[in-house]
Amino acid sequence: MDVKEQKLYAALLTEIRDELEKEIRREQEGVEYPTAGDSMDVAEFHLNQAVRSELHNRYESLYHKVVGALERLRDGTYGQCVQCGREIAEKRLRVVPWADLCTACQQASDEKAA
Ligand SMILES: [Zn+2]
Repeated sequence: MDVKEQKLYAALLTEIRDELEKEIRREQEGVEYPTAGDSMDVAEFHLNQAVRSELHNRYESLYHKVVGALERLRDGTYGQCVQCGREIAEKRLRVVPWADLCTACQQASDEKAA
């Protein structure tokens, strides 16, 4: 990967990271427990909380991946699989710029998780 491409990915990943930071902060601020003893409100609140925490987990895990990718850009190891060291296909990085595993290692890890 040449310097020009690295800069493009760095700019893209920085933008994604900033957006995620905003989302995570907004979620943390937006939590309000219903004051009245209305059971419907409480049920709805808990449902919203569940959805929110699910979203939050997703944002958090993506955030860590993006931060990790930015670190690898700085180290000069960006675009390499962290497991086998092979180059991650350009095609894959375009879709998943924070990818830290090549397609083969990702598949193996998905199968283990399933
Ligand atoms: Zn690999």
